[in-house]
Amino acid sequence: MEGESEASLPGLKIQTWGTHCCVLIRLGGRSEYTGLAMSCLFCKIVDGSVPSTAIYSDEECYAFADIHPHAPVHVLVVPRRHIDSLAEVTTEDRPLLGHLLWAAHEVAREQGLANGYRVVINTGADGGQTVEHLHLHVLGKRALHWPPG
Ligand code: AMP
Ligand code: ZN
Repeated sequence: MEGESEASLPGLKIQTWGTHCCVLIRLGGRSEYTGLAMSCLFCKIVDGSVPSTAIYSDEECYAFADIHPHAPVHVLVVPRRHIDSLAEVTTEDRPLLGHLLWAAHEVAREQGLANGYRVVINTGADGGQTVEHLHLHVLGKRALHWPPG
């Protein structure tokens, strides 16, 4: 990735790329990614340092109410681990991607979206992505138009 750099302290590795930063803690010879990306809003929501209204949570992902809802139900599902966007995923992320869709299904079920709903992943500049941490929008409780703008 562009602008990648690393710095090391005993037992600690700090890795930065672009505006993001993560900390790796060495545990018994292994490096564990803490998921901490200091400049990322959704990482801060995941770690609780920015408040949010929790909707669903498990070991892989967190879902919370969108602050500017475009439908009576508008929930964001985000992986706990920082990934910039759908364009950045790798082969290793395939199980996680399935899990995020499963979580969107759970959100829709728990929110009572029996009449239907929409799951959207805005990706990159042309896709209208404004927060660079992969997220699924789950929208429902009103009729949604097609095609989108
Ligand atoms: P996107 O435009 O697809 O990147 O979606 C980003 C979404 O994040 C938008 O729908 C925003 O309303 C939402 N958003 C931004 N800041 C917050 C926040 N602090 N809490 C909840 N949702 C947020
Ligand atoms: Zn993030």
